[in-house]
Amino acid sequence: FMRNITHRQLFLSHVAQTSRFPLALEIDSAEGVYMHDVNGKKYYDLISGIGVSNVGHRHPAVVAAIKEQVDRYLHLMVYGEYVQAPQVLLAAALVGSLDSPLAETAPYGPINRVYFTNSGTEAVEGAMKLAKRFTGRFGFVACKDAYHGASQGALSLAGQAFFQENFRPLLPGMTRIRYGVVEDLEQIDHRTAGLVIEPIGGESGVRVPDIDYMRAVRKRCTETGTLLILDEVQTGFGRSGTFWAFEDFGIYPDILLSAKGMGGGMPIGAFMASETVMSVLMENPILGHITTFGGHPVSCAAALAAFDVIQSERLHEAAGRKGQLIKDYLGAHPLVKEVRGKGLMLAVEFDSFPLLKQIIDRLIEVGIVTDWFLFCDHSMRIAPPLIITEEQISEVCRKIIGVLDEIEL
Ligand code: PMP
Repeated sequence: FMRNITHRQLFLSHVAQTSRFPLALEIDSAEGVYMHDVNGKKYYDLISGIGVSNVGHRHPAVVAAIKEQVDRYLHLMVYGEYVQAPQVLLAAALVGSLDSPLAETAPYGPINRVYFTNSGTEAVEGAMKLAKRFTGRFGFVACKDAYHGASQGALSLAGQAFFQENFRPLLPGMTRIRYGVVEDLEQIDHRTAGLVIEPIGGESGVRVPDIDYMRAVRKRCTETGTLLILDEVQTGFGRSGTFWAFEDFGIYPDILLSAKGMGGGMPIGAFMASETVMSVLMENPILGHITTFGGHPVSCAAALAAFDVIQSERLHEAAGRKGQLIKDYLGAHPLVKEVRGKGLMLAVEFDSFPLLKQIIDRLIEVGIVTDWFLFCDHSMRIAPPLIITEEQISEVCRKIIGVLDEIEL
């Protein structure tokens, strides 16, 4: 009976929808910066599945690593019981990437312990539990318009009113401050377990803070015994022009969060801290945190391959130049109010959501996928795979400008 029902109909009738405007494209295959739908139409993926495909779709090294692992074992045991080669090698690679002189600015020293999760949200949740246990406090400070996930804890931390209001009561002890405003940092005090903050605001529409602000953040956290929890779920793994965004801000976190681009297209996340901080999860009562699938060996193998591709090809360094090219192309158009961002994490601002929606719909017709931000609906997200070439950038930007010209007339 299914024969006459299209996949699109099944999608609309059986896959729970929470998006106002699901794209509903049916993709048959994807590689590099391209996706191909079931009708053979080719699309540029300019958002990397929202910051995931940093090394491109199906990078050959990632695919090979996955295949190799699939031929050995899939799942063995809940997290942390067995020595799994891809997991320990990934942990060592991540710790190596965090070996920085900046660690001296952090009160608890260099990050050398990795707890693997399945997603960014779970990394946030784990970090919140860790900060509560380490400090003995339950207060958290986070920024208005930040997005850290949709679970009870992450939702309680942050998000615009429309996102939170139907789910009250939320966790107690949450304070929201304005991103980038130094005076608001005074609200971090001796009751605050952790400040959860993005080094570049993602879903607020790519907000790049001043270096001075981030330094003040570090200072205030240290003064009040608050753990600085940097959410690099969106900024990490080369997206913003350095491997980790914090490197450019001259600060070092107490807990670092990663996910999204980390897995090269596979689900994985992590919260990372120094041994001093992380060790409280080992103290009594035992099982300070637990997960069945976190750090899945296939995801770890993919993540390790993605890590190596970014590091060996210095993709993060090229992201700065590539991002600047996009800024130069699109920033010159009269419909564009501003192009914000760093590396290949960009926001192109327009006057209104209806105008932007019209542009995005038209871009999809011409084979370019972009979107807007969760908490900034008049800015277009541009976050292509880091492997995008300069030729591809000029081709896609010319097409975007063609669409903007058409709309302007
Ligand atoms: N933190 C940030 C900064 C994010 O951008 C996101 C996802 N958009 C999350 C956390 C949540 O990650 P996930 O969707 O993998 O749970």
